[in-house]
Amino acid sequence: MTIGKDELVYRSEEEQRQFVDEIKEFFKYVFGTSDNLEFVLEDTLNDSLNIVGNDEVIAGECTSQLIRISTYAPKSVMYHEAFHKIIELILPNKEREALYEAYRKNNGKNLSERAVAEALADMFVDYMQNKKAFKEAKWYNKVRLVFKKIGLLASLVNNLGVRQAKALFAVYKDTTRGNIRNRIKEDEIEQKKQRFE
Ligand SMILES: [Zn+2]
Repeated sequence: MTIGKDELVYRSEEEQRQFVDEIKEFFKYVFGTSDNLEFVLEDTLNDSLNIVGNDEVIAGECTSQLIRISTYAPKSVMYHEAFHKIIELILPNKEREALYEAYRKNNGKNLSERAVAEALADMFVDYMQNKKAFKEAKWYNKVRLVFKKIGLLASLVNNLGVRQAKALFAVYKDTTRGNIRNRIKEDEIEQKKQRFE
């Protein structure tokens, strides 16, 4: 995930440790393991961030082998990269292709794999951030967040059509309820990794 430099979160060493623990916990919950996670420990004096130019940095990336996350990344990066993994390595090919096709149908037939993958990962970030905000909100703010959720669901339908919006929402539910683990099929993942390279 590429972000603007101004979106970086400059954490102290202790905060970086907490951040790493939180991400590991999330991955353990979703995938049953936090293996294949790699952290790029940052310090402000010795920038190790991947600078892409124009004040942009790579705060996280997902390859077929591992997910790498900078300890200065905003939390949204963990949702974004986790969802890449779900879409590319866990969903059955047929389901993934149906989602991609539906997204292209509604957003542009010539969109690259990469563009669709990024959009789907970002949609999951929006969903998770709203869900988290709702959980933490006082009752008088919940109404606003409910409307925001309705807006998010409407945008799923706009982007994917009703059928695939429902399918994607089911993947969201599986993810937040810890059921994605049960969908992991190691032998299929090996095949998918080759495609993902
Ligand atoms: Zn991405």
